[in-house]
Amino acid sequence: MNNPASSKPAIAYRTAGLTKVYGEGTAAVHALRGVDLEIPSGEIIVLLGPSGSGKSTLLNIIGGLDRATDGEAWFQDQLLTEMEDAELTQYRRENVGFVFQFYNLMPSLTARENVELVTEIADDPMDPDEALALVGLRERTDHFPAQLSGGEQQRVAIARAVAKQPKVLFCDEPTGALDSSTGRAVLKVLKNVNDTLGSTILMVTHAAATAEMAHRVINFADGDVRDVTENKTRIDPEDIEW
Ligand code: ADP
Repeated sequence: MNNPASSKPAIAYRTAGLTKVYGEGTAAVHALRGVDLEIPSGEIIVLLGPSGSGKSTLLNIIGGLDRATDGEAWFQDQLLTEMEDAELTQYRRENVGFVFQFYNLMPSLTARENVELVTEIADDPMDPDEALALVGLRERTDHFPAQLSGGEQQRVAIARAVAKQPKVLFCDEPTGALDSSTGRAVLKVLKNVNDTLGSTILMVTHAAATAEMAHRVINFADGDVRDVTENKTRIDPEDIEW
């Protein structure tokens, strides 16, 4: 039996002095300047801040896609910043899903087949049809990406990311290529994933209004966290104005 207290710790990520420098010498870009942060598990967390302030860099490092220059990043009790490449790959495979601005679907595969690409190699996957139902696409499982709207394609991408039941879902500008009503539908899907699967959702966005659906908002500026605010009340994605 799993001890619930140990299988769902309160803190998903912790960073200490997390630093990322791209390039060297006069060309060096200080993308992260010693970030100290705690990210609770099970929440929807929105990262806001100007373009170039370091949001994606943070996401990429704690998502195991990029490496820090200095400092520490922990996922639960695992020290990501000390991991070998193979360990990071395993960490990603077992724990995280990614949703990007562009959907990266395979055009020659149906919605279900795109999701199956992930479920076939995951340890404890959902049924692909169930994942597609979760994002409201039960009726579209045999459609190819070209037969789906932008919002529907993004929902397939979300179904693909959640089908392996990840503990954490990273979303980098998931509504960036969508009009506002389609964007709201996609945000509603993300809220549904958080409500039903309990996945921690970390979302980078330029759309400041999106912050109102989050449990917590991390404001970035110039490579560091400026402040973290907790929303006392959260707005339903359908009521977000942008
Ligand atoms: P944000 O997500 O807030 O827009 P980023 O994390 O993408 O910010 O970028 C932070 C800074 O790091 C920016 O100045 C950006 O130009 C720089 N940067 C990001 N990725 C790279 C890279 N691969 N090589 C060089 N500089 C990069």
